[in-house]
Amino acid sequence: MKTRIANQMAEELRKAPKVALFSHVSPDGDCIGSMLGIGLALEKLGKDVYLYNPDPIPRNLSFLPGVDRIQTTLPDPLPQTLLFVDCSDLQRVNLKPEHIPARSIVLNLDHHVSNQNFGSINWVDAEASASGEVAFELIRELQIGLTQEMATNLYTAILTDTGSFQYSSTTAKTHRIAAELLECGISLVKIHHQIFDQKPLAKVKLLQHALNQLQLYADGKCAIMSLRMKDFEQSGAEESLSEGLVDHARSIQGVEVAILLKEIDSRKVRVGLRSNLWFNVNELAARFGGGGHKRAAGCTLETSIEEAEQILLQAIEEEMKFGRGH
Ligand code: 5GP
Ligand code: MN
Repeated sequence: MKTRIANQMAEELRKAPKVALFSHVSPDGDCIGSMLGIGLALEKLGKDVYLYNPDPIPRNLSFLPGVDRIQTTLPDPLPQTLLFVDCSDLQRVNLKPEHIPARSIVLNLDHHVSNQNFGSINWVDAEASASGEVAFELIRELQIGLTQEMATNLYTAILTDTGSFQYSSTTAKTHRIAAELLECGISLVKIHHQIFDQKPLAKVKLLQHALNQLQLYADGKCAIMSLRMKDFEQSGAEESLSEGLVDHARSIQGVEVAILLKEIDSRKVRVGLRSNLWFNVNELAARFGGGGHKRAAGCTLETSIEEAEQILLQAIEEEMKFGRGH
């Protein structure tokens, strides 16, 4: 089944003279690394490639080969072949179905269990630790030799989405793919240094604000941190710098669910959700129109921070009491 889908997607790409690649809003290492890895591969195949992401690219990803090529405006007109990378639904790229012309060939490559299968061809592997794994398989299917530049992008995708190969999504296959990427001569030290050891001071200051707000609930099983607009202003941090801060709450002894609430405006809150061993945050996020994975998910609530906290806590405490979990 998977082989057939891989085959069909590769076939569509081989036929296309021009391909537009899309990655999701609030980009992360996986969507950018996977999009760039595939984009460079398609270029090697002689395709005219358009790379799209509407938001600023996090600074720690600015070393990725090809990153300067990413455009913040949609191609006009849209080429016939569109490839969505790491996007569980069209909303993740701020698009609606009516924005996609009927003649389009929509290719959907992802690893989110919550993927809405919105494409003409949907290659969604929920067992994959990162879209980077699926991107690796696509490039292999296309029989394009991996270059060091492609491998740097794919390794970064997998490294970031597995939390350095520590989340439960990491498999033997993940490591086999990583090994093949290392054999392309990528610089492990440079990648790790760029990703993890180049934090802008503003990010650490933002963490300071988040930790000041940290509270435990549900007998210590739920940790919530919140960041208001003023916290971003006072620490001089842009929104993307909050990525990963929720892990500080998740790592506290006894905590199963960790939440980071970000105030976008007085009636809009971005919610980042993480769990450790059993709580299904994807189901929780889905109740509020979001999605993701069992152990990492997100959603947006049109409320104040205080209301968001109440709504989420109530849902979590119910879930914990009735223990559906998983
Ligand atoms: P993060 O908290 O890092 O932004 O997101 C965690 C995971 O949940 C990622 O895999 C991300 O793609 C997914 N995710 C975050 N927010 C949303 C959302 O609003 N909708 C959906 N469908 N997925 C989301
Ligand atoms: Mn992603």
